[in-house]
Amino acid sequence: MAVLPLNPSDITPRQVANKSRKQALAEALRMTLDVQSAAIRHNTQTFNRNRYTAVARIADYDAMKDRARAIKEKAIANLPALLRQLEASVVANGGRFFLAKTAADANRYILDVLQQHRVKLVVKGKSITSEEIRLNPALEAAGITVAESDLAEFILQVADEQPSHNVAPALHYSRERITALFKCKFDTDLPLDTGEELTRFAREILRQKFIAADAGITGANLIAADSGSLMLVESEGNIRMTTTLPPVHIAIAGVEKVVPSRSDFQSFIELLPASATGQQLTSYVSILRPPLPALPFVAPGKTEQPREFHMVLIDNGRSAMREDPVLHEALYCIRCSACLNVCANFETVGGHAFGGETYSGGIGGSWEAGTGKLMNARFSELCTGCSRCVPQCPVRIDIPWLNQNLRQRMNQAQENFPVKSLFGSLTGSAPQDRAVPLQKQFFANYHSVGKWGTQFASLANRSARLPMARDVMEKIFGVDHRRELPAFPAKTWEQLFHREQQRGVKASTIKPGVVMLADTFTNYGSPQRGMAAVRVLRAVGIDVDLSRSIPDGRAAMSQGMIDTARLQARDMANMLRPYLDAGKKIVVVEPSVLAMLRFDFKHLLDDEAVITALAANSFEPLQAAWDIASEGGLDVAKLFPAARSRYGSRLFYHAHCQQRTCNASSQTIELLRTAGFDVVTSSVECCGMAGSFGYKHDYYELSMAVGADLFAQVRQAEQDGGPRILVASGVSCHEQLMAGMGRTVFHPAEMLESTLGW
Ligand code: SF4
Ligand code: SF4
Repeated sequence: MAVLPLNPSDITPRQVANKSRKQALAEALRMTLDVQSAAIRHNTQTFNRNRYTAVARIADYDAMKDRARAIKEKAIANLPALLRQLEASVVANGGRFFLAKTAADANRYILDVLQQHRVKLVVKGKSITSEEIRLNPALEAAGITVAESDLAEFILQVADEQPSHNVAPALHYSRERITALFKCKFDTDLPLDTGEELTRFAREILRQKFIAADAGITGANLIAADSGSLMLVESEGNIRMTTTLPPVHIAIAGVEKVVPSRSDFQSFIELLPASATGQQLTSYVSILRPPLPALPFVAPGKTEQPREFHMVLIDNGRSAMREDPVLHEALYCIRCSACLNVCANFETVGGHAFGGETYSGGIGGSWEAGTGKLMNARFSELCTGCSRCVPQCPVRIDIPWLNQNLRQRMNQAQENFPVKSLFGSLTGSAPQDRAVPLQKQFFANYHSVGKWGTQFASLANRSARLPMARDVMEKIFGVDHRRELPAFPAKTWEQLFHREQQRGVKASTIKPGVVMLADTFTNYGSPQRGMAAVRVLRAVGIDVDLSRSIPDGRAAMSQGMIDTARLQARDMANMLRPYLDAGKKIVVVEPSVLAMLRFDFKHLLDDEAVITALAANSFEPLQAAWDIASEGGLDVAKLFPAARSRYGSRLFYHAHCQQRTCNASSQTIELLRTAGFDVVTSSVECCGMAGSFGYKHDYYELSMAVGADLFAQVRQAEQDGGPRILVASGVSCHEQLMAGMGRTVFHPAEMLESTLGW
């Protein structure tokens, strides 16, 4: 069998681990897309699918998440007292306790312990905290050999790479690449062409290390302050051997791993494996109260020695994170990696691009910033804010909100120039956001762009097709020249709506009805979809009004311009309040704006009553239509007969990522199917366009690579049963599907409208 080249890229993961250099992120994206993407996709998507199945089996999943969150919140709030209690417990058990303020303090203490015992070889279980403090290089510099005992960590040690995933650190390696690596690094003629052969080969090496080791180092998933007990969850048994075979055991963990009591472990024992790999229970769950009793046997070549245990807890920035109004949330993280596996961008490039020197994925930026330097979190720019990770997090961390805050901090670290301030004041940026790069201000103020673009639509559309204009846009605003820009319409949604009103509309039966929010993206980008939604709602008898079109804060927030987003959210809330007071529901066509009202305004507004009212009374149009039709017992098949659609009745439907997080996509599918449409749905988490993300020159390749899964699903559906009409609910999903499939894409409301025959 032909052996693959070891690393087909000119870049190694370690060279681009630190993303404080902008170029490092670009190089890491190129490397991971070229070399690692197929293996990462396969492994993360398998974990993700299994997780959906596993959590569906947990009867009280939501209650369990609430309990887990409450335990972590309480533990972090009482951390100083818990640490004192834990120290007393560890000492009472016969162990030693060390609280390390910095990474260097921790390494010094561990080295001292090992040197006192004249340790030459230490065997180590998987510990991301040891990566954070760079323990291996510190020990190796002092002449101590470190043997990683977790199979994935063993592979990475052989390859000299940092982990690319918290739970499965080598998931970027295909079996073929591991074979190539072992063949290259070990002098062996053994067959290494199957997973079994590779595992057996590694196990033979590791078994000798376990027997020869003088000390074992592990991490800890949780630590109980009341008893000094450790909870260790693993799938290979290597951690159990590390804690029991060598006479000295050192457990290292961040201070955030401490919980009050051993009984608190219960929720996490179930939540952790289900969220991480989709298992009901991990193969090995150890709850230890070290030091353990001596083993009844002595390994060959060893003498019997008393057992010794050291608990090294690491602060390294965590106390500051605890005081931070935003980053303290990251301390609740149990490192399950559900947020990595569900993230379309992570699924495509993994943690060597969407990650830093230690931590990966959406949550990784907060950890890199909290335990290192802010600019190391640059990779968090790959978080598009799609929100798919939020409902999957077992401790309910709002990961995109953390990343938007990191972005704001990185923005504010930029130098200001008069041109930025001028552009910001012309386009509507808040004064605090005017030092932000032009590219971000451009995307953040799409409302201004849309307003001017539609006023001079013909000129704007012609200019947007000129190669020279596209070059300028790419250089100044970072808009990739390969992306086709959507044309500005001659009439906005507001104008079309008022023209139709003037012509007269059928009286509605359901009052006070709804107000449709004339969101920026529909108003200036696709007013025909807005009008289709209006007609569908009227067809089920709802009285429909249309709001003014003002910015909602979504675009600004996605660029980390939170002060601008706050101002816009306040204006939006003030505009919508009278409609709510009049008893109207709010209907939003663009799902990312619906998600603002449902979830994000809680970060931007102060008035709890308004936040709650907006979240509880906002709906997606087909969700509203389906609810009314169901409640009123309307005959949907008669109202919207699919056979009458001028476009056809066989559809491929892609729901928007935030629409799914809002639980507002299943109603569209129900409505279309009940009307008689034959609907195949996509199962990708995100199309890869994600608002402005796919337009950005820096991320065009990644965006298209993410989209490839969606395009493949369309092709598969058509191969299985003939052509289908492409239908999507989000404006950016439309753009991505059109780019990938080269065909017109419709909104579901347009499909229903096409059956009305008005
Ligand atoms: S919000 Fe979306 S892009 Fe960001 S980390 Fe979560 S899943 Fe990934
Ligand atoms: S942020 Fe949540 S989902 Fe992500 S690793 Fe941490 S606990 Fe798991």
